[in-house]
Amino acid sequence: MKKHLHTLRVAYENWLFEDRFYGLTELLKKYDTGITDIALFTSIVHTPLTIEENQRRADIIANRIKYLKSEGYFAGINILATIGHHHEDLDNMLKGPYQMMVGADGTVSPATFCMNDESFLSEYAAVIYDIYARTGADFIWVDDDVRYGHMPIGNGCFCDLCIGKFNRENNYSFDRPGLIAELENGDVEFRRKWLRQNRETLSRLLSVAGKAVRNVDENIMLGFMTGERYIESYDFHAFSEALSDGGKHEIMWRPGGGAYNDFSFDYIVAKSEQIGRQNAYLPPYVTINHSEVENFPYNLINKTPKSTAAEAMINMTVGCTGGAFNILPSETLEPIENIAPHLKAIADIKLFYLTLQEVTAGLSPAGIHTGWRIDAQAAVPLVSGYGGGLASYSRELFFFGLPECYNKDKASVVTLTGDSAKVMDDDEILKILSGGVYLNAAALNYLNERGFGEYTGFAVKKSIPADARENYTDEKINDGFAFGFRNCRQAFFHGDSFALTPMADDCRVLSELVDYHGKVLADCACGIFENSLGGRICAAGYYPHNWISDYNKTVQLKRVFTWLSKYELPSYVTTYCRIRNITLTGDGRQCVTLFNTSNDDIGDLSVMIKTSKCAADVYMMSGERFSLECGEKTDEGYKCYTISNLKPYEMAVIVT
Ligand SMILES: [Zn+2]
Repeated sequence: MKKHLHTLRVAYENWLFEDRFYGLTELLKKYDTGITDIALFTSIVHTPLTIEENQRRADIIANRIKYLKSEGYFAGINILATIGHHHEDLDNMLKGPYQMMVGADGTVSPATFCMNDESFLSEYAAVIYDIYARTGADFIWVDDDVRYGHMPIGNGCFCDLCIGKFNRENNYSFDRPGLIAELENGDVEFRRKWLRQNRETLSRLLSVAGKAVRNVDENIMLGFMTGERYIESYDFHAFSEALSDGGKHEIMWRPGGGAYNDFSFDYIVAKSEQIGRQNAYLPPYVTINHSEVENFPYNLINKTPKSTAAEAMINMTVGCTGGAFNILPSETLEPIENIAPHLKAIADIKLFYLTLQEVTAGLSPAGIHTGWRIDAQAAVPLVSGYGGGLASYSRELFFFGLPECYNKDKASVVTLTGDSAKVMDDDEILKILSGGVYLNAAALNYLNERGFGEYTGFAVKKSIPADARENYTDEKINDGFAFGFRNCRQAFFHGDSFALTPMADDCRVLSELVDYHGKVLADCACGIFENSLGGRICAAGYYPHNWISDYNKTVQLKRVFTWLSKYELPSYVTTYCRIRNITLTGDGRQCVTLFNTSNDDIGDLSVMIKTSKCAADVYMMSGERFSLECGEKTDEGYKCYTISNLKPYEMAVIVT
């Protein structure tokens, strides 16, 4: 099979005009970027084109694809709008006797069609996929307009068709306001039914598209573009099954999100975490997984070449096999050569991308899991709430070298917040409480109220609303900084400060809260406990997820999380610095990827890796490769490996 590395997504103007199209293909020849796949966008507007306009474009695309294939590319099509996305070019879009999507307040979208309208599926969706399948394309992408959550109607669809289907299949008789009220205030099981309908509806559209394409040529590969949208049900495994006809065909994935510039590189890191979650449960027949990398709406200086190249690279540590670059200037008709610096930056690290493909194959991230579930939207008011808040609440925990994972089966410690356990059954909660768990006050409250107090070891006593400082006790875990303070400045950053009560004799108190004069406001703010299930708990009442990057707290949290994991956490960085650590495991191997997210060189960077091996292979982004022996320091089965001089926004990979 052809070796795939990256996809280049090519906007309408760049293939429509011959001089621009051939100018682009000539430019690509100058750089050894590893772009193996080229996807031609069907449109620049996010509303569905008429069938006639799709046909007109398909005729030109067929010609372009023929050329791209002759040049050795895997060449295909990116259908930008199947059901429609946002309000653009409304006068010229598809018109039909089809049901439009309806928002929760009854607003009818003029831009987006309802996926439950059978005639829309058969008379439009199936027809345009058939048209594009006849172009000679190697592949066809379904873009992320196929979703719930469009501008400006928000989370839909609440049309009569969708509500009628829901009523019919569940024996209800809701009108729209009644249904919305129940989804907002009702129980988890009720909300799950709505998510299930969304999942089945979206899956049905993917099946229709897949069938239409394979009726023409079953060798055309289908792909789906996703984002972190819990209202769709986040069930990418189910969507894969639909698109691949039950796993009979290889398919492609393009996980994405919104990071259009690098004004803060953290936008890109945050998106990478979302991508990790999107990849967590994809089946093995998803063989090409290219992360979205884009500078939409194509202002080239807003995301630099180096950031662009690095973005694809860091996404390869969370399950992607390459990048899907949507970065080309197009309708401005500015010189296509303006993209040359970006192409050069991608080419500069082509060998490192290939190394990542090779060393991460068959492995997946392991470490600390935020307890997120694909049906997290059922834990919040379904229409107005955001289930993703239960997945991404503890980002700072991963700023200083603790490893994050995305698949719950790869967790050695779980963190929980608020009501996130609402979507878990009792067995699942007991399983979590039998392992290592880090709880904030709200999660502690929830678990205790649900009857698991025996296993949590602590209770929430009261809120401490002002002037509280965390004061570390002389517990062993605080060695080196006992009696030090941590001040999260409640006058500036309100909330998240609670007194806890130890509920068992063997609870160990790690800190108390005191005011500016040493007066004790709470005799327990954070503590640890081992329960009768063998599970280890840390209850943290004082800003457990924010302002945790001072030296003392990072040292304490590294000790706490390794203790919680019973020393099974796959790795942790001991150097005090800002570093992203994604550690992939599987087949008895550890692949520790360390990415410098700061603006400074990191001199000596030490990482403890849970391994019996005394030597590792190191791969630097610069292309340097060498064998590295572990240092003398060992602890609880960990070995210490130290690399030197990791530059800003560069990566090192240590494989043991
Ligand atoms: Zn509908």
